[in-house]
Amino acid sequence: MPCQLKEQSLLQTRAWINSNWIGPGSGQEFSVINPATGKELAQVTDCGRQETHEAVVSAHNALQKWKVLTGKERGSLLRHWYELIMAHQDDLARLMTLEQGKVLAEARGEIAYAASFIEWFSEEAKRIYGDIIPQTRPDHRSLVIKQPIGVVAAITPWNFPAAMITRKAGAALAAGCTIVIKPSEETPLSALALAELSHRAGIPAGVINIVPGLDAQAIGQELCDNPLVKKLTFTGSTAVGKHLLKQSAATVKKVSLELGGNAPIIIFDDADLDKAVAGALACKYRNSGQTCICANRILVQSGIYPAFLQRFRAAVEKLETGDGLDMKTTSGPLINQKAISKVHSLVEDAVQQGASIVTGGNEASFHGCYQPTILTDVNSSMRIAREEIFGPVAPVIQFDSEEDAINLANNTEFGLASYFYTSDLARTWRVSEAIEYGMVGVNETAITSEVIPFGGVKESGIGREGSKYGIDDYLELKYICMGDI
Ligand code: ADP
Repeated sequence: MPCQLKEQSLLQTRAWINSNWIGPGSGQEFSVINPATGKELAQVTDCGRQETHEAVVSAHNALQKWKVLTGKERGSLLRHWYELIMAHQDDLARLMTLEQGKVLAEARGEIAYAASFIEWFSEEAKRIYGDIIPQTRPDHRSLVIKQPIGVVAAITPWNFPAAMITRKAGAALAAGCTIVIKPSEETPLSALALAELSHRAGIPAGVINIVPGLDAQAIGQELCDNPLVKKLTFTGSTAVGKHLLKQSAATVKKVSLELGGNAPIIIFDDADLDKAVAGALACKYRNSGQTCICANRILVQSGIYPAFLQRFRAAVEKLETGDGLDMKTTSGPLINQKAISKVHSLVEDAVQQGASIVTGGNEASFHGCYQPTILTDVNSSMRIAREEIFGPVAPVIQFDSEEDAINLANNTEFGLASYFYTSDLARTWRVSEAIEYGMVGVNETAITSEVIPFGGVKESGIGREGSKYGIDDYLELKYICMGDI
């Protein structure tokens, strides 16, 4: 069996609508492929517009009872879901590695990270405070209450098949919203396993619905057009995000977008070299470079450049490509062949424009993997420095002054994550304030957790996920004026 788990019932392959597994019936199925072998793992129900419509109606019906539960009641159901996710961490991680490719240790880490959002928002559910505004007339009292927006549609990507769902669903459910989730067609199995556990946790029918499908356009159209959906939350590419933003205009939905990045990591001359090399390595090659906060450009000041490059190269050359289930592997396969071709075309373009390959530069011998690569002599006009690479390729750019570094870092339409290494406190403040990004890591590249506001500025998105701010995106303010007091 290609998908052997300790508890086989976590392998679910049907759509999840109103607490029912909806089979393909007379409809279609699509294949989920293991990127490390190229072989099929499972056949999954292929939902289209009709199933999506049914899921929205189910979420709308469930909303009426869910939104009137107390925060504490919703929180305790979420807490139970969190506990079940952690209790099944091994199976969920294995399933994720099988369908997504990331190495097992990272998959386990993602399950804990994914669960942490459910835990966090189970607590935040009790803390949705309103306000009393000091009156401007003696006979008035002015209040603000916060209420759930309503039915939420979530469209999620394949690079974090569990965490991108829980970061949205945790906040939505805590706020009192219900949700229809369209997971990536590459990784629906993690989503469906989470749905199974939500059911076991006692989350009522219709509160969570999952519509896997190949025709993202049709599913997206229904989610955007349907007036019962009050909010769209999306994580994925900038192009699709812009399309969904436009498509949501007709029904004036609230929209949260977490889109592409072009993260710089700046290594100043006064950086701690060991920490900078370790930070750059983790930040660039995690998930084989397939995260929106992976370093996309490594900017290195001239004084430290030779030493950094030598040490960085030695570290990169120790990475092992292979199957994510193999404990030796530190760089798993990319999601599919198209991803490899795209990464390789960026490398080829850079080399044609004058970049030099320090190490790597080609498809790896192991199926589905790309060689961990370093390029030097890169400049800002090359595609590799402008586009999101989403692969294990590190373009290194040399700079002279702090001002140059800031200009280079900001010279992009993106503004998600950024990082820099320095031992100068004054520079830490200057650069943190000057850099146009939603998130800044100073001497640290492991910057995410459930307690921080994740999100970007410029064309990297709208809104923040996680943290005490994350629930706001799922709430409406209502002002109540009491007169004649
Ligand atoms: P990636 O490059 O990470 O695959 P995408 O933006 O293509 O990013 O995909 C992210 C999510 O958006 C996936 O669930 C995908 O199916 C979905 N998607 C892609 N195109 C559309 C579309 N036109 N409408 C709605 N969803 C879409």
